[in-house]
Amino acid sequence: MCGFVGMISSTPVAAQIGLGMQMIQHRGQDAAGIGTWDDRRVHLVKGLGMIPQAVPEQAWPTLHGNAGIGHVRYPTAGAVSTAEDAQPFRTRSPGILLAHNGNVTNVPEVTAWLRDQGHVVLSSCDAEPILLTFACALTNRRPAGHTTEDVVAAVREVHARVRGAYSVVAIVEVDGQPTMVAFRDPHAIRPGVYGQSSSGAWMVASESVALDVLEIEKRGDLPYGQVALLRAGQEPVLIPVSEGQPRHCAFERIYFARPDSHMEDGRINRTRWLMGRRLAREWRERGHEADIVVPVPDSSRTAAMAMADELQIQHRDGFVKNRYSGRTFIMPDQASRDAALRLKLNPIREMFEGRKVLLVDDSIVRGSTMRRIVGMVRALKPESLHIAIFSPPVTHPCFYGIDMPTRAELVATQFEGQDLEVALTTYFGADSVTFLTQEGTRAVLGPNLCDACFSGDYVVPVSEAERSAIEAERRAG
Ligand code: SF4
Repeated sequence: MCGFVGMISSTPVAAQIGLGMQMIQHRGQDAAGIGTWDDRRVHLVKGLGMIPQAVPEQAWPTLHGNAGIGHVRYPTAGAVSTAEDAQPFRTRSPGILLAHNGNVTNVPEVTAWLRDQGHVVLSSCDAEPILLTFACALTNRRPAGHTTEDVVAAVREVHARVRGAYSVVAIVEVDGQPTMVAFRDPHAIRPGVYGQSSSGAWMVASESVALDVLEIEKRGDLPYGQVALLRAGQEPVLIPVSEGQPRHCAFERIYFARPDSHMEDGRINRTRWLMGRRLAREWRERGHEADIVVPVPDSSRTAAMAMADELQIQHRDGFVKNRYSGRTFIMPDQASRDAALRLKLNPIREMFEGRKVLLVDDSIVRGSTMRRIVGMVRALKPESLHIAIFSPPVTHPCFYGIDMPTRAELVATQFEGQDLEVALTTYFGADSVTFLTQEGTRAVLGPNLCDACFSGDYVVPVSEAERSAIEAERRAG
């Protein structure tokens, strides 16, 4: 999980990139960086931590140039973050500045090919193999003076060699002009949007909220199977590079993206509302009853409101989320783990005591947090406690850029072969557990969907060796 903001303008861009990045800080808090393109020179500031630590505002005036890229990082592979792994990355010959969001599944294969071409990968960040493959493909065509045709050929080479899910933004000189180049993997699994300001500047970003803060009008999602070449004050150039069916990440819509973001199929807030309504109908068919709907904050708020609306019962905030608690580390005993959860999420007693409660959450992955939440709520003596999840059970890990545990750590795998809703009702200590069905999810999200973590249907094949390598890295992290 990562996020990027790229901009090309006729005036300096660092401050606007910094503002846009703050709208997508939720996409990564481990590292951040801004690189700018200043008449063939690159200025780069990056480091560990959130934006204020990694790229403090005082550094922005030193980042000269009318084009640039900002990035926030949350590693999904590669154990511990180092400043070297922070993005964006650059090459000197040819001069390219690049960042991406996603996960490359065949890093060893790409690295071996790059080694044969005389390139050494120095970091453990998978942006570097993408950058070097792109750079290598450009220089194999000609050493300098790259053209639009060279860029199209280089993106085709990236698509042919680099497997996984990735949305990429790069700054490179094309046809003698600084150009922002943006493209997604052939299935457009990871998101990306582009838009233009009233002054003619172009911005690309992982989520549309980065454009909103600067009042830049969204022109569209980065089109799948095409590369976009953007220059300040000019119309975008969109060129087909590969064929493939779009399969956008379902989890972005359910959990990861901000509710005020707009992706291919609509506003995230609206999508979650529709999922909540659909889940309410499926929940009601099972004959359950409740007199209050309570979301587990924050991403389930909209779906919980929709459930309450559909079921014609009250919706109330039952938890206060502590925005200032920071990270909690693995605690050695149950009492400390409970304290860590309360530090993040404290229940409001009156919302639960003596009531028939319907608790709504976005997903169940490990199940440990939900189990502790149920324990905490049970202590407040509700008359009954039902759980509704507005996604299907997570049964398979994600290899496409969302940070998830290994398959063995998913709570669904512990109860394989059993009725999962019944098994989890007992495991959590609830009165019932209901998941939104796969049919219900597809009915809302449409057919152009990656739902591999719910179905095991991986649109980009991942070999056993690649799965083992990625899972080993996760265990090491
Ligand atoms: S496997 Fe799940 S989390 Fe990963 S890209 Fe597909 S839908 Fe998103």
